[in-house]
Amino acid sequence: MNDYIIRAISKEANVRVLLCSNAHLANKICDKHGTAATATAALTQALTGGALLGAMLKVGHRLAMRIEGNGALGKLIVEADSYGVLRGYVGDPTLNLPLLADGTQNVAEAIGVGVLTVAKDVKLKELHVSSVALPTSEIDQDITQFLLQSEQIPSDVRIGVTVGKDGRVVHAGGMLLQSMPPHNAPAFVELVKKVEALPPMDEMLADGQTLKEVLARWFGDVEYDLLEERPLRFQCSCSYERMAQALSSLGKGGLQELLELDGQAEVDCQFCRQSYIFDGDDLRSMIDDATA
Ligand SMILES: [Zn+2]
Repeated sequence: MNDYIIRAISKEANVRVLLCSNAHLANKICDKHGTAATATAALTQALTGGALLGAMLKVGHRLAMRIEGNGALGKLIVEADSYGVLRGYVGDPTLNLPLLADGTQNVAEAIGVGVLTVAKDVKLKELHVSSVALPTSEIDQDITQFLLQSEQIPSDVRIGVTVGKDGRVVHAGGMLLQSMPPHNAPAFVELVKKVEALPPMDEMLADGQTLKEVLARWFGDVEYDLLEERPLRFQCSCSYERMAQALSSLGKGGLQELLELDGQAEVDCQFCRQSYIFDGDDLRSMIDDATA
């Protein structure tokens, strides 16, 4: 099944809504990091949240979401852009906690108490950075709180991820409901009640429902317009040039040390695990540039 996101608005309720399905790209990314089941669930939930937040960006803008708590998972990093491109990684990819009583992964325990930070690149000099203390360490509720506190947007985010016995993502999806000014509070509350009455997103996807069908079921007799359906995909923006830039930031002394110790430098991309090797000549030319 392809990864995709749909966007709709309801003039009647004055809300906008996003629904996404993204198991395929989550598995691609988790495979790159060799994640164990709990890390897989956490990273996939974060990627789903990133897909929803990314779809709220203006064209050409990008964001990085960082969730960092005192749990064993360490940090969760997801980057998304307005075109539906995602990448991400997790502090401890090997984390595998005992399942909860209902058979799901204990992501909240894995994350622990901490902070969710979103840095947006909106093509200005400075990044736009805002953060919120994790109210629950459940990623969808934390993103809901972030939107409310940092962006003053009454929202409701639901994320559903099923990780199979083999540790791979079977179904992953999310839905985001957002009130638009002038807010129609009763209509918004009614739609939140309706979504609460629905099965979790991953269950609906497991039933073979399309996102359009989930939307129709959710909204019932509330009128809406479907605006867009677009693909989501994994792609890493790392390159030899970017890695060289990162390496150069060590400065002349740091580069000299690398050259003397190892004769070369190997830099791994945190997002896709691609290795970039810089040999002695590369390092010498960087040292020359640093001197110049
Ligand atoms: Zn990369």
